[in-house]
Amino acid sequence: MDPSFTLAWIGIGGNLGDARATVNEAIAHLARLPQSQLLRSSSLYRTAPIDSSGDDYVNAVALVSTSLTALDLLHALQAIELQHGRERPYRNAPRTLDLDVLMYGDAHLDSTELTVPHPRMAQRAFVLAPMLEIDEKVVIPGLGAARDFLDAIKDQPVRRL
Ligand code: ATP
Ligand code: CA
Ligand code: CA
Repeated sequence: MDPSFTLAWIGIGGNLGDARATVNEAIAHLARLPQSQLLRSSSLYRTAPIDSSGDDYVNAVALVSTSLTALDLLHALQAIELQHGRERPYRNAPRTLDLDVLMYGDAHLDSTELTVPHPRMAQRAFVLAPMLEIDEKVVIPGLGAARDFLDAIKDQPVRRL
């Protein structure tokens, strides 16, 4: 692969309004990211909220190849969230659309604005299940094989739609 391109994993979630439609629209947006190519997107998954409140979530993940920097990618994702009316009234509030940078190549970044790998991803079945659907051998930088974390979260119900 072209060394100026990085493989980035993006987590997609929503639990307000027609979350299924929103997640599908988000995937269509990701296919139009500048300087990027959408390589894969997972099925949609339905999950009960964990740290959050409100209706069930619909989640998915996408794998993109991008020459955007990690921060530019985050900003592009935030612009897509805003187009879907994302508001942040309080922490973990229900949301129309949430887009997280899960991993950006094997980069370790640690600022308030952007921490990658996403610090909570390995504890979330709604992240791991769709990632493993796309690549069962996927490795989380610094942590190891994603599938090794499944056992610890087997009581989190995720249902493939
Ligand atoms: P969680 O991070 O636990 O999934 P959340 O997605 O609900 O929670 P948000 O309110 O969407 O949290 O984001 C809060 C802040 O997190 C954002 O302002 C953003 O700058 C920061 N942030 C840090 N690391 C990341 C990342 N890897 N992806 C997306 N946002 C991040
Ligand atoms: Ca999130
Ligand atoms: Ca977020």
